[in-house]
Amino acid sequence: MPSRYTPNQQKKNPFIKWSLIIGSILVAAAAAAWFYLQSIDSPANIDDAATNEVQTSQSPGEEPPEGDGAVKEKAQELETAEAPEQEEEEKQEEPQEEPKETETKEKAADEAEPTKDATVYSDTVELPEEPAVINGILLANKQHPLPETYAPGEGKEARAAFEEMREKALQEGVDLVAFSTYRDYNRQKELYNGYVAKDGQEAADRYSARPGYSEHQTGLAFDIGEAGQEQHWASASFGDTKGGKWLAKNAHKYGFILRYPEGSESITGYMHESWHFRYVGKKAATEIHSKGITLEQYLGV
Ligand SMILES: [Zn+2]
Repeated sequence: MPSRYTPNQQKKNPFIKWSLIIGSILVAAAAAAWFYLQSIDSPANIDDAATNEVQTSQSPGEEPPEGDGAVKEKAQELETAEAPEQEEEEKQEEPQEEPKETETKEKAADEAEPTKDATVYSDTVELPEEPAVINGILLANKQHPLPETYAPGEGKEARAAFEEMREKALQEGVDLVAFSTYRDYNRQKELYNGYVAKDGQEAADRYSARPGYSEHQTGLAFDIGEAGQEQHWASASFGDTKGGKWLAKNAHKYGFILRYPEGSESITGYMHESWHFRYVGKKAATEIHSKGITLEQYLGV
């Protein structure tokens, strides 16, 4: 009996099989690329990032956190995953070319107003030649950026103070970890651009610092969490944990302040970040803590 298939058909079978295999590979690659893009923004600052919308119970990720950004990123991913439609809508409302105009108008309006909004970047401010140092304290915020070339590395005094604090906390059953400290200009640029590519500049500005504006570039900002509690790293929930409460109560004794306290966004420019501490030295930290003020208020800016 001759085969039911002609030679031609027999050739087709492997062809179909391979088409399916190649098709599957392409789909898998597209999915992988999507996940990769989602994870690119590891951030950063995030801390700069100021989004605390990023709570959640993500499990510690596959990749080591590179900064609060990284962790936030994950949180953001979750958020995004939960509300994909909303995001879509937002994007549709703001076609690519319009945001520039809108932004300019908003900024112009802001500049015209007598009261300044610390959350907004000023178009008139360019990266300076020297960092702003007031009464011996380095200030980095949205109105006081750092030179692109300012690259001091992690502050030695700040690190020593952290280690001393860590010892004391350990005695009291809290195992502190500084999971993100110094980040240079280029790293921040990488992170920020990744966020902008993913969410657009307006959204990125809400949770990530522009390069030159991150306090992490000073080497004096420490994102702190607790060992074994990675799910709370760079998350608002850290403030409710034993470690978060210990820090809020004791960090000033070692020269650290909670840099972005709750309800101070209009002054600091960032939403509350229960994990972001800034080394300012014991004297300033103690006064800032006891008065319940921000660094900006302490420095009178
Ligand atoms: Zn931080």
